Amino acid sequence: MGVFLAVAFAVSAAVAGAVAVVSRLRRESPLSGVNTFMGAGTAVMSVMGMVQVLASGPTGAWLAATASTVASAAVVAGVLCLSKIVANRAWRVSRRAVLLLAADPAAAAGLALTNPWHHLLFARAEPAGPEGMLVSAPGPLFWPHMAYVYVLLSVSLALVVRARRQAPPGRRQVHAWTITAFTPPVAANIAGMSLPVRLPDLTAIGLSVTMVIAYGALVRSLPQRQIQVAHGQVFDTISDAVGVIDRSGRVLNVNASARELLRRAGFPDEVTGKSLHEIPGFGFALSEDGSTDQTVTDVLGRGVDLHVRTSVVRDRRGQCVGWVLVTRDVTELNRRRHEAEKANVRLREQLETIEALRADLAEQAVRDPLTGLHNRRHLLEALTREVARAAEEGTPLGLALVDVDHFKGINDAYGHGGGDVVLVHIARLLAGEVRHDDVVARYGGEEFVLMLPGATAESAWERVDELRRRVGRAAIGVGGGPLSVTFSGGVAALLPGQSPSDLLRAADEALYEAKRLGRDRVERAAPRSPGAGAAPRSPGAGAAPCSPGAADTGAGAAA
Ligand code: GH3
Ligand code: MG
Ligand code: MG
Repeated sequence: MGVFLAVAFAVSAAVAGAVAVVSRLRRESPLSGVNTFMGAGTAVMSVMGMVQVLASGPTGAWLAATASTVASAAVVAGVLCLSKIVANRAWRVSRRAVLLLAADPAAAAGLALTNPWHHLLFARAEPAGPEGMLVSAPGPLFWPHMAYVYVLLSVSLALVVRARRQAPPGRRQVHAWTITAFTPPVAANIAGMSLPVRLPDLTAIGLSVTMVIAYGALVRSLPQRQIQVAHGQVFDTISDAVGVIDRSGRVLNVNASARELLRRAGFPDEVTGKSLHEIPGFGFALSEDGSTDQTVTDVLGRGVDLHVRTSVVRDRRGQCVGWVLVTRDVTELNRRRHEAEKANVRLREQLETIEALRADLAEQAVRDPLTGLHNRRHLLEALTREVARAAEEGTPLGLALVDVDHFKGINDAYGHGGGDVVLVHIARLLAGEVRHDDVVARYGGEEFVLMLPGATAESAWERVDELRRRVGRAAIGVGGGPLSVTFSGGVAALLPGQSPSDLLRAADEALYEAKRLGRDRVERAAPRSPGAGAAPRSPGAGAAPCSPGAADTGAGAAA
């Protein structure tokens, strides 16, 4: 019996000592310190238990019982700290708590050390145990000490039970372990006291079992373990449907969202163990990491758009052991995207309409409404540009001013409407004969300007004179009969240093000369120094110098 007990205490000491050492090494857990303290206390109690069993004299038995009592009082204080930390991971022992908790161990130590003089804690050690083992019966003050110990243990147990009730379901394991840990030392203590034979206190042996359980709680409180628990919670609560597939393509596990999605898709059966191909919308081949879009029909016959992300699960050697599929219902997202795209198309069409209207407006701003030719404003802009370009590149630029002869007479004879018909006809003839780069503009009234980039004075004259002949040959339908009309023209070519208005003036003077010489002819500008001469006249005014002669000639443009 003695040998058996000695071995039990030795094993208990070894276990508690080992737990103390490994707990000390796992300092990342808040339970590490308290576990080390309790493990060390339990080891001391166990060794002292062994000494008591083997003690041959009362002094040895007394010293061992003393040390064991002090250690057990300290361990019980440790139990309270452990329970506080399990209930609240942020709790740390304060100096005040240390002082309060040290009161009982200190009192027990004082009583135990002075016990041979008063025997208040233990009765005198007697060889009352089996095989004459020296054991002490409890003294009168032993019971208040035990009562305190049990109160402390009850408070600790209550703390953990309450914390367990308040903890979320996935995080109750540490509490459950701690609650279990209370049982062995209490059972050992009660069993030791209720046996028919008197034995040294067996609590230490129960406590060593507690230490193993407490170590389990410590491991479970480690960050990695918490991360695992967190991963599990994420898996269960994530709104994406997640499924784990094994290497053969069978479903190992799915989360709640996946079950919900499958139920909506008319697949309410248990999916675990099924081949992925049996699940609607998941008949695609699994290969490397990637994603695919699938559409399934739900129980109400509506299309559900799914975006499925596939990632390969590999073992430590990098071998594929399965896949994780994360599926997101993107129906609403797609619907919004389509709506946004449609709105975009509508917006683009509206922009195009606005742009076309703007271009139309811009075009109208530079067009003459009667003839459709460019107007004076456009001509002056184009002329400014072309004069600058011709001056820079040294290329010729010809300009002709054309004025319908005796137009007033036409108006008088055929009315303003008839005059308009003539203007439109002449405009069409002029515009039909010019080149791509040329500009034909209505300068005002019955006057037109032809800007001829690249044309010298000679070639400009030739082209305008040819136009004059064509116009003269044309028969215009006005007032029920064909009418032939003539024009006079003045042609100038850009001279070095000339401005656009210089060039216009030169052409105007040549036109004046053509009118003076009898009309229906084209005259070239006399070479002249830049900036010389009068300012260019305003449209319509060019006829003024010729008017008297013109009036005399009358409406020569007879049918
Ligand atoms: P000349 O041979 O000397 O150029 O004689 P003309 O009659 O053509 O000269 P004048 O400048 O005196 O007459 C031009 C006329 O053109 C006067 C004006 O009423 C007319 N006119 C100006 N603009 C328009 C227009 O838009 N439509 C019509 N029908 N007539 C216009
Ligand atoms: Mg005229
Ligand atoms: Mg005129």
